[in-house]
Amino acid sequence: MAPDPSTVVVTGEIITMDPRRPRVDAVGIVDGRVVATGSRDEAIAACPSATPVLELPGTIAPGFIDSHVHMLWGGRGTEEIDVSDAASVAELLLRVREFAATHPAGAWVRGFAGIDAESLAEGRFPTATELDEAAAGRPVFLDRRAHDGFAGTTALAAAGIGPDTPDPPGGRIDRGPDGAATGLLVERPAALMVEGAMPAPTLADRLRWLRAIQPRFLTVGITSIVDPALDAAELISYATAAQRGELALRVTGMPLGDGEVPPAERAAAFAAAGVDLTDRDGEHWRIGPWKLFLDGGGSMGTALLHEPWPGTDDYHGNQTTSTSGLHEYAVWAAETGAGLGVHCVGEAAIDLFIDACEAAARVRPLKGLGFTAIHAYLWPTPAQMQRLRQLDVLVATQAPLQWSFGPGLVRRFGVEATGRAHPLRSWLDSGAIVGGGSDGTGNGIEAPIAPLWAFWQMQRRTIDGDPEHAVGPAEAITAAESLALYTTGAAAVAMAPDRGRLAPGCVADLVALEVDPLRASPEESRDARVLATMAAGEIVHRAD
Ligand SMILES: [Zn+2]
Ligand SMILES: [Zn+2]
Repeated sequence: MAPDPSTVVVTGEIITMDPRRPRVDAVGIVDGRVVATGSRDEAIAACPSATPVLELPGTIAPGFIDSHVHMLWGGRGTEEIDVSDAASVAELLLRVREFAATHPAGAWVRGFAGIDAESLAEGRFPTATELDEAAAGRPVFLDRRAHDGFAGTTALAAAGIGPDTPDPPGGRIDRGPDGAATGLLVERPAALMVEGAMPAPTLADRLRWLRAIQPRFLTVGITSIVDPALDAAELISYATAAQRGELALRVTGMPLGDGEVPPAERAAAFAAAGVDLTDRDGEHWRIGPWKLFLDGGGSMGTALLHEPWPGTDDYHGNQTTSTSGLHEYAVWAAETGAGLGVHCVGEAAIDLFIDACEAAARVRPLKGLGFTAIHAYLWPTPAQMQRLRQLDVLVATQAPLQWSFGPGLVRRFGVEATGRAHPLRSWLDSGAIVGGGSDGTGNGIEAPIAPLWAFWQMQRRTIDGDPEHAVGPAEAITAAESLALYTTGAAAVAMAPDRGRLAPGCVADLVALEVDPLRASPEESRDARVLATMAAGEIVHRAD
């Protein structure tokens, strides 16, 4: 009988993240699961006779988990333009022009512009008219960090946005002095007006995107993710990919709620569309907690704060889900056990989420339900951290956002306040369960997904444009804590306790790293390669 390819003994220098046996020489794997860790002889003895032995180079660790990454959007991005790193409006427009010229006429020009006006040479955003000229009249839509968007005049017209169009609830159509839309659409509800006018992608499109994007994750050692905001068609795409054996990564997908629609109604609509919401423990695909967006972001100046945003006339940020809608989802998520993760960046949004969690906890204790504070980086207080911990609410942090949004925050708030944002040290000291992640897509350039890179950033607290200086060194964490965030911590957020560790019963997902991340300097980690990635006992990536 031919040996099962997912039955193997892996030997090498192995970090298990299992406190009982933190470092071992071998892992015994049967049918893609760990059956033993320990000495080479112990691992061999735990496997069927004649199980092959695979010696892996470097240092072996559990496969990395990103507890907040928009992989499906990243897949779509492989067929889109990304001008997030443009240095000027002129360069951005030139690249739109080139992209439009090399992609089929008639189709929309779609892509990403994770830009800040102050980072562009002209000190402003591109206008709708400029975008249209660059695309030779074809409709243009550029997504800004999954919150906002830029549209050309043709795209605005296709969306029916004219001088008299009212702002949607929770969003804003930016207008010039003459009342005409500038092309900037602030927050999801406004951006969705144009996105909704684009031809809808098909299941075949999404399956193709997933095939295209996964190698980028495996290359950096990520074997498991949480994709944190999925509509019905997107959930079905993942489930279909898993059924067809096309998911090499393990994915926890969060169904996207809508504060304007009662949760039971929303869930019924998803189920009617074909989403199996009961699929909570699948091997490669599972439904995670529901997701709501509660406020804007730190980079755009739209996160919900107690103090007004600097330079504004008493503007405290955007609340994108009503407080009543939030409470309704939270209580429902506790009652049904569905769980709820909430995008809450600013301290005031964190307060609203905590209140909702307390209401939910009166219905049922939240432990094990996957209630998650997502982002929570603009100055959560020690008291907030304690309340979240006492409520058994998980925390999904994204250190790469400190890097990419750091320069904008420094300009708005100064170095000292920016240094207190993304308080990883304080989160860990609070005793909360914290997962690491990127908030990237695997395709964009603005939030790098590579965990080894993030280990450097979390230890050094660096921001984009200034890799030499720490911003808020008091909130730095250690190498061991960094590794834990991207393994055991992220596994908790992914609702998958059998990941992130190499111990009997756990999935046999692991990485072979060029350096030992617990002994290397942060810079050595940052510059190291992932030599091999194994998922469910099979090698899915090898460095050349
Ligand atoms: Zn978010
Ligand atoms: Zn996100």
